[in-house]
Amino acid sequence: MRVIFLGPPGSGKGTQAKRLQETRRIPQVSTGDLLRQAVRDGTELGREAKGYMDSGGLVPDQLVIDLLLERIEQDDCENGFILDGFPRTVKQADALEQALAAKAKPIDAVINFEIELGILVERLVGRRVCPKGHGEWHVKFNPPRTAGICDVCGEALIQREDDQEDRIRTRMETYRRDTEPLIGFYRQRDLLHGVNALGSMQDVSEQIEAIFAERY
Ligand code: AMP
Repeated sequence: MRVIFLGPPGSGKGTQAKRLQETRRIPQVSTGDLLRQAVRDGTELGREAKGYMDSGGLVPDQLVIDLLLERIEQDDCENGFILDGFPRTVKQADALEQALAAKAKPIDAVINFEIELGILVERLVGRRVCPKGHGEWHVKFNPPRTAGICDVCGEALIQREDDQEDRIRTRMETYRRDTEPLIGFYRQRDLLHGVNALGSMQDVSEQIEAIFAERY
């Protein structure tokens, strides 16, 4: 099963992708996570990407396309994957479509997380993440067991540089301009399924399961 989770920043894609990864045993592939790991590792890609990421803009298409296509070549993606945060532009969607067509392994479904952008600012400003990449929490909606501490490794949680309010507004504009056109792109291909992303984590998870139960 090859699936794309499409939606604005903070719409819950990452959380739901992690859940589906557990239930379906296929990996979540997040270009945001891969890029943050490259920044932490201090690789050339990480150094190149950091400025774009911190400003709330997009990393240039070709860098992300190469990163993603290399990742989905790995063995754990053999039986499918959940793309979280990719594609984010029509150019990325075209590149993905061509690469998968060449292997006769096309995308099966695109889940569109539908939510008003205005609501997302509160979700994102309260988000706290583990600096070692163990996950994310929210000060109000999904607090860790001990305030400010990663449940997995005990490190102090941090706020992402791009989760500050001015950066969030830039990310929303970027989403509207560059990523929203993908809704039409995938609707045209009859792959698009909408979920109401305003519900609880459980509720959204059930909507997604219902879509897959119908198809797989
Ligand atoms: P995310 O964790 O998905 O919100 O991604 C964090 C940041 O990484 C984004 O604001 C972009 O700067 C960059 N990024 C992640 N995925 C992509 C992508 N598919 N295309 C371009 N930039 C990306």
